Amino acid sequence: MSKINIIGSGFSGLAAAAYLAKQGNTVTVLEKNAHIGGRARAFEENGFMFDMGPSWYWMPDAFETFFNNFGKTTSDYYDLKKLDPGFQIFFGKGEVIQIPDNKEELLELFESIEKGSGDKLTTFLKEGEFKYRVGMQKLAYKPALSWLEFANYEVINGAIKSHMFRSIKNYVRSFFKDERLVAIMEFPVLFLGARPKNIPALYSLMNYAALELGTFYPMGGMRKITEGMQQLAMEMGVDIITNCEVNKINATHKLVSSVNTSQGEFACDALLATGDYHHIEQKLLDPEFRNYKTGYWDKKTLAPSCLIFYVGVSKKIKKLIHHNLFFDRDFEKHSFEIYDEPQWPSDPLFYVCCPSKTDESVAPIGMENLFILIPIAPGLNDTNELRESYYTKVMERLEKECDDSINAHVIYKKRYCVNDFVTDYNAFKGNAYGLANTLSQTAVFKPSIRNKHLKNLFYAGQLTVPGPGVPPALISGKISAQQTINYLKKTNHEALV
Ligand SMILES: Cc1cc2nc3c(=O)[nH]c(=O)nc-3n(C[C@H](O)[C@H](O)[C@H](O)COP(=O)(O)OP(=O)(O)OC[C@H]3O[C@@H](n4cnc5c(N)ncnc54)[C@H](O)[C@@H]3O)c2cc1C
Repeated sequence: MSKINIIGSGFSGLAAAAYLAKQGNTVTVLEKNAHIGGRARAFEENGFMFDMGPSWYWMPDAFETFFNNFGKTTSDYYDLKKLDPGFQIFFGKGEVIQIPDNKEELLELFESIEKGSGDKLTTFLKEGEFKYRVGMQKLAYKPALSWLEFANYEVINGAIKSHMFRSIKNYVRSFFKDERLVAIMEFPVLFLGARPKNIPALYSLMNYAALELGTFYPMGGMRKITEGMQQLAMEMGVDIITNCEVNKINATHKLVSSVNTSQGEFACDALLATGDYHHIEQKLLDPEFRNYKTGYWDKKTLAPSCLIFYVGVSKKIKKLIHHNLFFDRDFEKHSFEIYDEPQWPSDPLFYVCCPSKTDESVAPIGMENLFILIPIAPGLNDTNELRESYYTKVMERLEKECDDSINAHVIYKKRYCVNDFVTDYNAFKGNAYGLANTLSQTAVFKPSIRNKHLKNLFYAGQLTVPGPGVPPALISGKISAQQTINYLKKTNHEALV
């Protein structure tokens, strides 16, 4: 029986643990924090249950596939609810557009904003569906160790038809002129960590996911997913050890032999590292075993960090729904301040998740649970004064757009920003979402999931393939587990079934 250690209990670590345990291996997950889930942890305070990270449950098939791989289904672990409307956007001056779940209503909405755009949306989503099938169900599952993996007609043809070499900005604008429609179509790629002009149009697959497949919510919160994965992994014998920070990877004869942690030394036949790649390489490995030097990381484009406020409000807020985007300011300017000349944004867009609109269990009765997020550049100087000044700014705008008094009813508030990402997750420059999905950081151009010097060291998570986001993290765990299994098979480790 092979002994495999996994660093990190985020989505990718838990997924990898389950796949490796299913093959009969002895799997131990070592997690530095007190709770599992990584960036998707949750905490409870004053009767409010806050999800700390992801809040958009898109691409339900990715979650279903994961649980199906173990003879289970998502409903064995949590109840999914489809949101309708999926989300709403505040454009300022009282204008709010709600995105209906129903396709007919969606087409009518587009048509009412810009004549002819209903038909265009149909074409756009059809192309998005094709890209989704190629991108999420084929390309995303490649370990991207060599371009040869992509050298077959179906994949190349798919990549070309998927507009890999055209920007999403240009692509969206070839369909829609109205700035509000452009904003609706460009917003999902903000998750990918770059300006729309630098993101391949392949990622209009995100529009298909958002507008056609729909937006879901696991009742009880996003933590229900990681709790379900934890349960599944533990049922297969995985040992998950929290408060256990790995501080050194020990290697001899081109192989990892063990890791040193805050709870002692753990020997292994293979190691799968899902903490932030930069941290694993630069802090835990001796220089001769690193895949990349410091200069490599300096040149990488990171996805944004963010400033988050977890807020408990002692009353209901009528104008909010579950997902609310505040696009009442200049999107270009905010993007420029994140990506081109990183600085604290002068007048940022922001997002408010209010899960208590859907789920009574996340706030005391009659109250609201708010998660307010402002995307910012990674690596910014982060102080409490700055955080508070942005709280004041966005709260004023929130009150104005909702035409409601909110701040006076806040009974709980926690701020979270760059320094917390570094402290809690060892995040490079305090990034929230990993590496940006630009063309030059796609597939083989991403940090490799295999270590070149140590044959039994593999990486997974949002800084390697396929990229940032929960569904990609699930896929990353699977691909990396497969690489580990291939390695163990080659070296004839026994108990692989
Ligand atoms: C605020 C926010 C909002 C987001 N919103 C969405 C969304 O709505 N939808 C979506 O799909 N995605 C969203 N994402 C992205 C998504 O959450 C991540 O891509 C995904 O959770 C990453 O999982 P992971 O396993 O790669 O990494 P992580 O979750 O970071 O897991 C890595 C784990 O490794 C641990 N670790 C690090 N170093 C060590 C060490 N030395 N020893 C032991 N353990 C260590 C960390 O503590 C952590 O638990 C969001 C992310 C953030 C931060």
